[in-house]
Amino acid sequence: MRKRLAPALRVLALAVALTAPGLRAAEAGTLATRPAIREALAYIQRAEPATLDEQVRLCEIPAPPFQEKIRAEYYRAKFIELGLQDVRIDAEGNVLGVRPGRANGPLVVFDAHLDTVFPAEVSTKVTRTGTILKGPGIADNCRGLAVLLTVARALQQSKITTEATIVFVGSVGEEGLGDLRGVKHLFAKELAGRITHFVALDGTGLGAADGAVGSYRYRVTFRAPGGHSYGMFGLANPIHALGRAIDKIARFQVPDSPKTTFNVGRIEGGTSVNSVAHTVSMEIDMRSVSAAELDKVDASFRAAIASALKEENDFWAQHARNPRARLVNARNPVTADIERIGTRPTGKVADDAPILAAVRRADAALGIKSSFSAGSTNSNTPISLGIPAVTLRTGGDGSGNHALDEQFDSKDSHLGTQRAFLALLEIAGVAP
Ligand SMILES: [Zn+2]
Repeated sequence: MRKRLAPALRVLALAVALTAPGLRAAEAGTLATRPAIREALAYIQRAEPATLDEQVRLCEIPAPPFQEKIRAEYYRAKFIELGLQDVRIDAEGNVLGVRPGRANGPLVVFDAHLDTVFPAEVSTKVTRTGTILKGPGIADNCRGLAVLLTVARALQQSKITTEATIVFVGSVGEEGLGDLRGVKHLFAKELAGRITHFVALDGTGLGAADGAVGSYRYRVTFRAPGGHSYGMFGLANPIHALGRAIDKIARFQVPDSPKTTFNVGRIEGGTSVNSVAHTVSMEIDMRSVSAAELDKVDASFRAAIASALKEENDFWAQHARNPRARLVNARNPVTADIERIGTRPTGKVADDAPILAAVRRADAALGIKSSFSAGSTNSNTPISLGIPAVTLRTGGDGSGNHALDEQFDSKDSHLGTQRAFLALLEIAGVAP
């Protein structure tokens, strides 16, 4: 569906982007010198302690993958309180709120993802020591969610009229097996054909992502009849086959540049300590900023599974003494089922794209040294569709993302909020 829509979307988005008055108006001067905008930037700095309080409140509402609903309801209430229009939760679970622009056509999505990687049983209680906030999800992405609300509030209070319409979005399914389902829904259904620019708030620091790290994710399930570990010794063993596969994967050699990675992130299975298991599975994630390198590591992965299976089955064909085990092995050797559970496309925004120039103007006005890199965020989807997109980091300094000891250092974090605000205006354009 998405593939079929892509060329049409691209043409439409390009046509609107090229004629967007916002971008032309913004190029004329530095927005940061306008009194209303200067005032809003000062407000954002004063409001940073409240932004941090909001970040903590959001974090303490758990939002495990596929269970973002409670946090989404809270976010929707905030959008209503801010006076955004047409506030709604769409069919996929994304929260949307609209701030109409002056021009008819350009539409900027300003997005932060609602979900965390943590299962429901993990406590998301936050502790604070000095400038350090500690708790699962505090940086990724409660920081982005809190910054988005403050930016929306600053805009509403300032009464600034933007050229483009801004749709604020709290999206679902960015992490893990969510596989970008929230943002994919925005482009395929909820706002199909209408989004001309996309900005995601995700990650900490003052950089930005203009490239999409692609990834393939798989679940591999090894199966065999299984049996008693003593009585049926000699059965080919799915867990041993999985071990052989992981041993091969662990030896993969990948380039530093273009950065390419692999990780077996989960294993699950087995029956008991005294059983030859009948099933075991693993989940593996492979990433690269280069599509060619990603395909190479993908090919090595498939070869590793095939040869691990062959080794395990051949080994017992040779060594099993028990005739019943030999019979089972001959009829039902260990098999492996490779299931694709995630795909994120690779891509890169052109260095001279207006959306990146807009971010550079915001950076320059705030004395931030612009730095762009590749990321794996909601922007992957628009970037792969050829729609101008950027992911802004959100200030402060995060560490331990996706770990239980995740933390956020809020020293000078107001700069991230100010940059997000100014970059949004530079992208959306401001009426003179
Ligand atoms: Zn994130």
